[in-house]
Amino acid sequence: SGASLRKPAWIRAKAPLGAGVARIRRLLRDAELATVCEEAQCPNLGECFAHGTATFMILGDICTRRCPFCDVAHGRPLPPDAEEPARLAEAIATMGLRYVVITSVDRDDLRDGGAGHFADCLRAIRERAPATRIEVLVPDFRTREAVALEHFRGDSVPDVFNHNLETVPRLYAQARPGASYQGSLDLLRAFKQRHPQVPTKSGLMLGLGETREEVLAEMRDLRAHDCDMLTIGQYLQPSAEHLPVREYWTPDAFGALEAAGKAMGFSAVAAGAMVRSSYHADRQAHGLVGT
Ligand code: SF4
Ligand code: SF4
Repeated sequence: SGASLRKPAWIRAKAPLGAGVARIRRLLRDAELATVCEEAQCPNLGECFAHGTATFMILGDICTRRCPFCDVAHGRPLPPDAEEPARLAEAIATMGLRYVVITSVDRDDLRDGGAGHFADCLRAIRERAPATRIEVLVPDFRTREAVALEHFRGDSVPDVFNHNLETVPRLYAQARPGASYQGSLDLLRAFKQRHPQVPTKSGLMLGLGETREEVLAEMRDLRAHDCDMLTIGQYLQPSAEHLPVREYWTPDAFGALEAAGKAMGFSAVAAGAMVRSSYHADRQAHGLVGT
């Protein structure tokens, strides 16, 4: 029909932000760093910054793919900024962040998919802010998986390796053109085989028309590929040009998925309308959410 669904009451509006957040925003601007927290106007921003958590977007803000649920600009990206790792590490140290998530757009234009730049950032942060725990939320490195994984070694091994499957395989052609469901599962398993001590993690967004059975099957696929941790949230349409929300999953439905995930053996599961890939990432990594 084209008519959009009304947002239910449990979809929270943005929370008011404190003075501490304004200071951090200025610092980020001065360092020319982008956070997903700000770009996506994440409703959890005040809470996360206050807890010493933030999600940084490296490698620019222009993606080589065009996923119709995603608000990131599409086009030809700039070459990696060689100064970015040092600026990032400095800002993380200055902000006193305890837990950071490093993510990027898809860089199909780079031979290593951008993994080398991820590794440079990891090394720089390890050196400048050695107590900070680092989660990487990586693109799928499609067709370059083996080359990409070679970069994560020694000082550049993250504390958590996260790669989102986003949606169920039936909806990949529509929602993740250019991506491969099996390829993404294989990436998670391949990392785990190289670094069995490092937790792997994935995330799903619901509301694009998937069924509960499809979600459960996907969760089983993740466990079969040794994925340890899982986040499940509600898809929200960024603009009228993006894929419509087909369904708002209820708090009870999220709760049931969380319980099912624990029963399947995930070490941490966070499921809820406002859960994002990096929400409570610090507590999850310590096993405090979902225990
Ligand atoms: Fe940033 Fe993630 Fe927290 Fe949102 S949930 S504010 S994106 S760290
Ligand atoms: Fe957005 Fe990632 Fe798709 Fe790029 S690959 S359009 S950043 S979801």
